[in-house]
Amino acid sequence: MIVRTRTACPPGVHQISLPTPYPVGRSNAFLIQGDPPVLVDCGVKSTRATAELEAGLGEHGVRLEDLGAILLSHPHFDHSGAAAAIARRTGVKVVGHRFGLEYEFRGRDAFYRVLAQYGAPPSLIDTLVAMNDYGDRFGEQLTALAKLELLDQGDRFVMGGAELDVLYTPGHNAAHLCFHDRGRGALYCGDLLLAGITPNPLPHFDLEADRGRLLSLNLYLDSLDRVEALGPVIGLTGHGRPLADTAAAARKARRQIHQRAEIVLELCYEHLGQTLFALAGRLFGEENPLGEALAFSELLAHADRLEANGRIKVDHERGTVVWAQEPIAEETE
Ligand SMILES: [Zn+2]
Repeated sequence: MIVRTRTACPPGVHQISLPTPYPVGRSNAFLIQGDPPVLVDCGVKSTRATAELEAGLGEHGVRLEDLGAILLSHPHFDHSGAAAAIARRTGVKVVGHRFGLEYEFRGRDAFYRVLAQYGAPPSLIDTLVAMNDYGDRFGEQLTALAKLELLDQGDRFVMGGAELDVLYTPGHNAAHLCFHDRGRGALYCGDLLLAGITPNPLPHFDLEADRGRLLSLNLYLDSLDRVEALGPVIGLTGHGRPLADTAAAARKARRQIHQRAEIVLELCYEHLGQTLFALAGRLFGEENPLGEALAFSELLAHADRLEANGRIKVDHERGTVVWAQEPIAEETE
């Protein structure tokens, strides 16, 4: 095995890698030492993951019962699944964005509806329902918890050794927060930025005004702007190793989004009349149900943005692209 130089956690912060049952693999929790200690994310609800979490905390002399708060980057079970069970056991306060803590998770049914609307076969949706039912065993809704603290853009969270500025960073999930530790030059960035993976711009549905689907890629780009404005700091990510420079990672993610947009435009132009689901299959060629769904999700996010920018026209009844602007030719060969 080759050991490369890796960006490490700043002093007083420890990364605890936890197993998940999902294809993404392990997820990260972070212990911020202090009195009391604070945890950022907590992994799935499973005997094995919680045992590894307790062992990881124990290496630094911390028990679950000692925690003053669990901060959540976002309410996906690979990051938040264990929060309700830990809170019931220890009375710890759970902290996150209100969309994750006050609202039942309703995005999934809406996602099935858009899959059907834009051409996915019913058999795929049935498979996803079964997969998600399985995945649901690894977490709980947080809405029923007594001790919640809701945070939003511009808030500050101070406890023990944690002094964090809160950034609201939707784009992967509508309840996504990043936490900026100015003193340590670090950003807990959840799934907004990851080393070697482009996070999926999952459909965002308006939970309050019922205005339907939001432009998740525009939200994503705004979130990247917010992160880049912090300058170069260490990124403590929800999966994998820390990032050396979140501003550079944000710039790279933005470039990838703009490049992918041109590829999607070209695809729409060349295959007018096809459904968005069929176009996603052409672009990504995924052959497993989750891969197909995530490919569709990314294509839908681009199609929504291209349409909002007047570059394509979608027949939302039929789920097909009916017009696309002629792609701009590459300047260089
Ligand atoms: Zn994740």
